[in-house]
Amino acid sequence: MLFDTHVHLNVSHFDEDREEVLQRAKEAGVENMVIVGFDHETIPKAMEIAEQHDHIYAAVGWHPVDAIDMTDKELAWLEELSSHPKVVALGEMGLDYHWDKSPKDVQQEVFRKQIQLAKKVNLPIIIHNREATEDIIQVLQEEKAEEVGGIMHCYNDSVDYVDACLKMNFYISLGGPVTFKNATLPKEVAKYVPADRLLIETDCPFLAPHPNRGKRNEPAYVKLVAEKIAELREVSYEEISKQTTENAKRFFGLIDG
Ligand SMILES: [Zn+2]
Ligand SMILES: [Zn+2]
Repeated sequence: MLFDTHVHLNVSHFDEDREEVLQRAKEAGVENMVIVGFDHETIPKAMEIAEQHDHIYAAVGWHPVDAIDMTDKELAWLEELSSHPKVVALGEMGLDYHWDKSPKDVQQEVFRKQIQLAKKVNLPIIIHNREATEDIIQVLQEEKAEEVGGIMHCYNDSVDYVDACLKMNFYISLGGPVTFKNATLPKEVAKYVPADRLLIETDCPFLAPHPNRGKRNEPAYVKLVAEKIAELREVSYEEISKQTTENAKRFFGLIDG
């Protein structure tokens, strides 16, 4: 069984065939997934899909690219949603220095407010990071994010920063890029992260793993990610799928007792 910790089945790319995509995920052994909402359109859709399916959960947050659109009203909305039984984390939140729609200082302010909210409602956080690893680690440290813990989603930087993340009770999630031929960093990270802190994801519809690179990604392909990680760590596919599923259930508080 597999746990895809980061999917966007809530975007329009899946409007035509969402139920077929879910069926293919089931056939590939993907038992659970977390749908991540990140703005006015995708948050209600994530809640709707999670409410309709037992094995699907939701995370809600404000994306750093759109940080400039987050007011106190949106923050209050996130707080209200945080008590919903299907909401297992806040995010994705973080910093994205690739796009310049929202200035860096605005992104950091919105990121800090969401970490503070996560501590208030006691939910872990999901971090989106693009070209901003050092600033992200600094904000997480200053805001004492270790009190709630989190996921570095689709981690794509040097292994050198992994220890700082682990120290703050963070998990490292790997996606499609670990399967890309020319991607050396995620392969090193896949070998380095302790077994009990490793998670897998698709981030679908984006970042489809090899040999589907460039196509629309979907949760069934998380199997390709797990297979590649098993190969890199020289363990069985069964061991990786069992371990990452256990880790995800522990992280999201889905283990009874
Ligand atoms: Zn992201
Ligand atoms: Zn995402």
